[in-house]
Amino acid sequence: MIWIYYINIYYMSKGDLLMYDVIIIGKGPAGLQAALYTARAKLKTLVIGKDSVIEKSTRIDNYCCAPSQTGEELIAIGVQQGKAVGVEFKKEIAVSIRKNSTFEVITDNNTYKSKAVIIATGQPSKKIPIKNINYLEGKGIHYCSTCDGFFYEGLKVGIIGYTDYAIQELKEMQNYTNNITLYTNNQELDINTINQKFLKEQNIPIITKKIYSFEGEQMIKKISFDDQSEENVDGVFIAYGTASSVDFARKLGIMIQDNAIQVDDNQKTNIDGLYAAGDCTGGFKQISTAVGQGALAGKSAIEYIKKLKEEI
Ligand SMILES: Cc1cc2nc3c(=O)[nH]c(=O)nc-3n(C[C@H](O)[C@H](O)[C@H](O)COP(=O)(O)OP(=O)(O)OC[C@H]3O[C@@H](n4cnc5c(N)ncnc54)[C@H](O)[C@@H]3O)c2cc1C
Repeated sequence: MIWIYYINIYYMSKGDLLMYDVIIIGKGPAGLQAALYTARAKLKTLVIGKDSVIEKSTRIDNYCCAPSQTGEELIAIGVQQGKAVGVEFKKEIAVSIRKNSTFEVITDNNTYKSKAVIIATGQPSKKIPIKNINYLEGKGIHYCSTCDGFFYEGLKVGIIGYTDYAIQELKEMQNYTNNITLYTNNQELDINTINQKFLKEQNIPIITKKIYSFEGEQMIKKISFDDQSEENVDGVFIAYGTASSVDFARKLGIMIQDNAIQVDDNQKTNIDGLYAAGDCTGGFKQISTAVGQGALAGKSAIEYIKKLKEEI
């Protein structure tokens, strides 16, 4: 029986390791600046993210008080500064955020918990250019299984995507129907081994053909492909590429306007403990503004957690 005791201790400590005060989604200027503040305030801080758009820039001249440098150098310095004060970094992609008594951030590799979350995921990616996508939005085209899956109980649903984010949406859709097909729109599947195994075990049909259009008048009826074949569907859920700030907002009920997360003067969203900073909040999309907003979001998260501790 002693081995059961040790197994329990192992899993309990693993669970603790995955619990943070603050999780910051995004490793760009906004996320890195927020992390500096929260870690210096002795909050256990995790930054999740891959490359920032600025890492493509070969020369930054308009960021005050720093020498002219490449975007890659700028981010590398930010990561170094973070590590020096105890920030943990994970090169993972967040596919979903849930809120219960704490936040749960699900990535392509793990699930992490925290008391506060800062979204700093940069500008949301553009819509996929498929004919009639705008027209049929809300008429059978959706972006969030948790929010709208309920309307498709037992019906035929297509998930449009090719990453772990699409598989997460597919899994959530299974709460409502088992008649689900994955459409990759000519993209190669880019998913982890657990999800590869899941698709095989569950026998999920996968159609890789390029989509030409969505068809329907009052409601979506079909997906048409470039090779002129068609598939009937009752609903379509789009989870294409990487989950963006807007996708997280839809799941959590965060207010958005013009594809930007709405925040107050302290970077707080309408959800307690949830903040946003940088390009994902719209406005003047520059490093200096991202850094300024990141600092404010960090400060707000610190005050929020301090208040939580006082209440205990
Ligand atoms: C080519 C180019 C040159 C530029 N040059 C300048 C310049 O010279 N000066 C200037 O001030 N501004 C410049 N900008 C603008 C500047 O890059 C942005 O304003 C700034 O990077 C915004 O910072 P951010 O932290 O909000 O987002 P980003 O820098 O975009 O960082 C977003 C982070 O979120 C991560 N992420 C996204 N989705 C997820 C997810 N689902 N899960 C986990 N992580 C996720 C990304 O991997 C990334 O780490 C330039 C932009 C480009 C594209």
